Amino acid sequence: MATTNQRPPDRDLLSLNTATVRERWNLKEMIAGCARHGIRGISPWRDKLAELGAKEAAKMIRDHGLTVTGLCRGGMFPAADRQGRKRAIEDNLRAIDDAATIEARCLVLVVGGLPPGSKDIAGAREMVRDGIGEALDHARSSGVPLAIEPLHPMYAADRACVNTLAQALDLCDELDSGGGGALGVAVDVYHVWWDPELARGIERAGEKRILAFHICDWLVPTTDLLLDRGMMGDGVIDIPRVRAWVEQAGYRGFHEVEILSAKNWWKRDPDEVLSTMKERHERFC
Ligand code: ZN
Repeated sequence: MATTNQRPPDRDLLSLNTATVRERWNLKEMIAGCARHGIRGISPWRDKLAELGAKEAAKMIRDHGLTVTGLCRGGMFPAADRQGRKRAIEDNLRAIDDAATIEARCLVLVVGGLPPGSKDIAGAREMVRDGIGEALDHARSSGVPLAIEPLHPMYAADRACVNTLAQALDLCDELDSGGGGALGVAVDVYHVWWDPELARGIERAGEKRILAFHICDWLVPTTDLLLDRGMMGDGVIDIPRVRAWVEQAGYRGFHEVEILSAKNWWKRDPDEVLSTMKERHERFC
């Protein structure tokens, strides 16, 4: 077991997923904001990255001494026809290139749901498996691990038909049986906190498969399926417990704060959001 004195202080583990402040800041402002607040990790979304340009972003991130804890996101593999699936894979290859340019620790995959008009979730899951399989070689040769993010089952239709950690790990084992590090999972407490098999899944994932750890909180009641995530401490997720599990499994990476909150946090001054993040991370994580 690792001793506590080998670990960096908690504040050095904080990372900003740019979705958290996406309404008020561009990527330049986010990078500068992280540096100003002493937040050492950042995980950009591709829309923000595209605005600034991956090369320019990479330079600025380097200049500010930040670690890129992930690029959000690739995935969205299922499509109604072969052309659509091919386009999706091409888009993932481009995402891998961007992730390599900014030296992201992983490309997060939100794998996609049902193609329009389809009721075939088993078929969609096959498309996901095949799509990841197609992208994996490029990921491997680019040095960008792919992190499958299981999403809460309420998103199975429109965002991700991989809904539990066990399901994501089955895919990892099938496509990357050697466990060479090219394929793993992103553990986002918002999506997996309810899972009675979570502790077992995290243990099974182990150090090799856990590529990212995302935090926020589950509000009661939740008033919007997508855009009503809570700040750590405002909801019902026992974040320290999940954190302890990922650390027992060997994970030593960042804690990435990803809060989609149209009615609350997106309306606030991003400097206030970052200060609150830091304080809540210390108290509730
Ligand atoms: Zn996430």
